[in-house]
Amino acid sequence: KTGLVWFRADLRVVDNTALTAACQRSDNVIAIFTSTPMQWHEHNVAPIQVDLIQRRLGVLRSQLAEIGIPLLINEVADFEEAAKSVCEQAQKHQVNHVYCNKQYEWNEQKRDEITGHLLSEQGIKFSAFDDACIIEPGKVQTKNGDPYKVFTPFRKEWLRLFRLAMPKVQSVPQVKKESETSVSSLSEALFVHDKIELTYPKKDSLQWPVDEDAIRQRLRTFCSEKAQIYHEQRDIPAIDGTSCLSPYLTHGALSPRQCVSALLEVFPHCFDEPESGAFSWLNEIIWREFYRHLMVAFPRLSRDQPFQSWTRNISWRQSESDLAAWQQGRTGFPIVDAAMRQLKETGWMHNRLRMITASFLTKDLLINWREGERWFMSQLVDGDLAANNGGWQWAASTGTDAQPYFRVFNPTTQGERFDPDGKFIRTWVHELKDVPDKFIHQPHSWPGAVQINYPAPIVDHKSARLAAIEAFKIAKEQL
Ligand code: FAD
Repeated sequence: KTGLVWFRADLRVVDNTALTAACQRSDNVIAIFTSTPMQWHEHNVAPIQVDLIQRRLGVLRSQLAEIGIPLLINEVADFEEAAKSVCEQAQKHQVNHVYCNKQYEWNEQKRDEITGHLLSEQGIKFSAFDDACIIEPGKVQTKNGDPYKVFTPFRKEWLRLFRLAMPKVQSVPQVKKESETSVSSLSEALFVHDKIELTYPKKDSLQWPVDEDAIRQRLRTFCSEKAQIYHEQRDIPAIDGTSCLSPYLTHGALSPRQCVSALLEVFPHCFDEPESGAFSWLNEIIWREFYRHLMVAFPRLSRDQPFQSWTRNISWRQSESDLAAWQQGRTGFPIVDAAMRQLKETGWMHNRLRMITASFLTKDLLINWREGERWFMSQLVDGDLAANNGGWQWAASTGTDAQPYFRVFNPTTQGERFDPDGKFIRTWVHELKDVPDKFIHQPHSWPGAVQINYPAPIVDHKSARLAAIEAFKIAKEQL
């Protein structure tokens, strides 16, 4: 029996449910990754993300080779073609069972439905496993069997289930027999001097190591050195206080089970210690699960729709120039500009800053959250539909949480609170490097401001806040 494992956002051999199942149930196993550049363009996938995927595929290919599994890498236009291509490869290599881990986004689910049909027409079995969450979507329910729409009760139930069955990390599986399939004919087009070369614009992701040891070391170091003070440091962008593991979770170089197991090794009871730093980190992993569960329960979330339907009535402002000022980090609000420049240059942004910049776009500028969601996706190395959409809808008050729309972040006081001496701002907004601490958050009130070439604030926060609240109020009254 030959099994085919289709890798997508689970680029690892450790703790990979589909791979483990394939190895247990087949005599020999082959693997495939199908690149879909047109689909990625449609989904605004960032060039830095594709660079990371490409590099990680190199690691995956050697890890699979070590256990006798060849990885075929091919390229088609989009998901529809990917379904056909996987089916063709399965036939060509006399595969009797195709295995994969589920992806929960709408287009991905449709792709898998098509694949299932095509394969069954050929008499080939298809199994898709829940692997991307610690507790599978659909399992965390209210007493009435409904999905949770608010985070806190979701977390309570999640923790109850978690205590009942702690996640186990599965080790690298063994295949019964090495595969004799040769990959060269298929893969050649995508290999240049033995290096994988996916067709897509790319931006250097070297800042993010992709080898197994480096990733696991980062996880271990975070758990042993930083997790205990995570709650105190996680909101300060100038401090390296968070794990920076999101790109690996997004592409599945790490599983959430690996993350939580590493945490529990150091803090075995942290799930019962809500005041601790370790719990605070676990809490973020639960947020990640929450957004994935929501995406499954409310498929409209991956189809450009707000969770709160009344927010469809909001009259968003159209302003190309304000949108561009936000994207390029030229709004005149130092903390916003520093964050947006960091994003553009590095493909990364700290969580507190994602919240501040998203609030600024959707409330101060009253620009549609979808513009922000798209821009983040096109830049982020960890861009992930569920978390990104969840974060944007949270900030825009269009999402599930009971976040009232009249709560609008003040970008100046947020800067004062989370970057008090302007260290982060000065790293990214070089024009402000000589501005004294006292004026760093409002550089135009500094008597020496004439010397700096920094834009004046593009909005007046006070009046913009009132205008946003009014726009939300009008939309709600139309209910
Ligand atoms: P840590 O603080 O170390 O947290 C550990 C892990 O928990 C993260 O790696 C991530 O997988 C998960 N996590 C943390 N916070 C959240 C959260 N609020 N929601 C969901 N999961 C979370 N995260 C993404 O992975 N991809 C995105 O595209 C993304 N877009 C966002 C957009 C907005 C507007 C906002 C407000 C948040 C977004 N987030 C996104 C969530 C969060 O900002 C990042 O996960 C976090 O900054 C990653 O840094 P870290 O790995 O150091 O996180």
